[in-house]
Amino acid sequence: MYILYGVGFMGKTWVKEIYAKKLQEMIERGEIWEIRRLNGPTGPRALVNGREMIILSSNNYLNLANDPRLKKAAIEAMEKYGWGPGAVWAIAGYHELLDELHRKIAEFKRTEAGLVFPTGFAVNAGTIPAITEQGDVILSDELNHGSIIDGIRLSRAEKIVYKHCDMSDLEDKLRQVHGKYNKILIVTDGVFSMDGDIAPLDKIVKLAREFNAMVYVDDAHGEGVLGDGHGSPAHFGVDDEVDFHVGTFSKALGSSGGMIGGDYEVIEFIRNKARTWLLSTGFPPAVAAANLKSLEIVMTEKDRIRRLWDNRNYFKKRLDEMGFNTGKSQTPIVPVIVGDTKKARELARMLWDEGIFVVPIVYPMVARGTERIRNQVNAGHTKEDLDKALAAYEKAGKKLGLI
Ligand code: PMP
Repeated sequence: MYILYGVGFMGKTWVKEIYAKKLQEMIERGEIWEIRRLNGPTGPRALVNGREMIILSSNNYLNLANDPRLKKAAIEAMEKYGWGPGAVWAIAGYHELLDELHRKIAEFKRTEAGLVFPTGFAVNAGTIPAITEQGDVILSDELNHGSIIDGIRLSRAEKIVYKHCDMSDLEDKLRQVHGKYNKILIVTDGVFSMDGDIAPLDKIVKLAREFNAMVYVDDAHGEGVLGDGHGSPAHFGVDDEVDFHVGTFSKALGSSGGMIGGDYEVIEFIRNKARTWLLSTGFPPAVAAANLKSLEIVMTEKDRIRRLWDNRNYFKKRLDEMGFNTGKSQTPIVPVIVGDTKKARELARMLWDEGIFVVPIVYPMVARGTERIRNQVNAGHTKEDLDKALAAYEKAGKKLGLI
C-alpha cells in the first residue's frame, strides 16, 4: 500500500467514502500495485528498496537507460536549451534539435518522415482517432496494448477485434467489412508485451494488400530488438507496406517519449490533427537530445542486440529445460506462466527474497488462467546474473510444484 504523506487536508467526507469503498474492493481483488523504490539508476541490476537486485522487470532491453552518452547529450542540451519546453509544441514551438530527431526517426523507421510524441501512449491515443472517422472500420488484435484500445475507443470508426494473430479470423473479418466502409485500418502490436510473441506482419500486409486496408504497427517491444534493431516490420522485410510505424523511446531505447514514422503527408496530417500532440506538452529538450543519441547507438552498435539475444536464448532455454511454461515467447519477453493469481504472487515474492526483481502479471492484465511472471532479459545481464535468477526459479518452482 501507498503511504501518503500530507498536511492533513480533508476533502468532503462523502467523496472520501466513495473512493475508500472502491479502493477496498480493489485491495480485496488484489488489484493494488506495490511500488518499489529505486535508489539509483535502473539497469540489469539496480538498488531497489536499499538492496542490490537483478532486474527482470524492465523494458530497458539494450541497457541504455543509464548510458553515459545519453546522459552527456541530455546535460549538454539542458545547458543550451534549459529544462522546460514552455508549452505544447504546436503553440510554443519546439527546440531546434527536434527537427534532427524527426529526421533520425525517419531513418530509424525507414520512412519519409518522423514525428515525436510526449509518450508512446500518446501516439496511440492521439493518432488512431485522428486517422479514422465515422464510416471507417478498425480491425484490432485482441491482445493489443491498452493504449491502442483507448485510441480505438476515442475513434468514431467501427471497431472489430480479431483473434490473437489468427490470420484466418482476420481474413474472415476483412471479407465481412470489405466494400462496406470508407477505410479499413488493421492495428497490431509488433511484439506482444505480455507473451513476447511476434505479429505475423508478412501475412498481415499480404491481407491488407488484398483488401485495400491500411496497416498500423505499434512496435514498442520490437524496436532495438528485431530486424537488426529497426523492429518487426524490418524483421519481415515489409517496412514499405506498413503505413503507420509507431514506437516509443521508453523501452529498448532507454529513454522516454513516443514516435511515429510514415509518409510525409501522413505525418504532417497527424501533427495537425492528433489531440495528444496538439494539447499535451512534449518532453523537455534534454530528453530529445538523449533520444537522438539513443537512436544513433541502436543503429550502429549491433553487438548490443546480439548480446541481448544471446542472453534471451540462454535464459529461455534453461527455463524450458527445467520444465517451466514460457508460452509463445519469441523475443526477450519471456513469461513464466503459472495460471493462478496466488501462485504468481507467491513465485514473485520468493524470487524477490532471492534478489530477483520480477512482478506478477495477473487478471485483468492477462486472461484468467494465464497468470504469470513476465521476465524481460537485458543485454547487460551477465551469465552470473542469469544463473542466479535461474537458480532462484528452480528453487521456487520446485517448492510451488510448478516443475
Ligand atoms: N505500446 C505498447 C505495446 C507498450 O507496451 C507501451 C508501454 N507500456 C506503450 C505503447 C506506451 O508507451 P509509453 O510507455 O512510452 O507511453
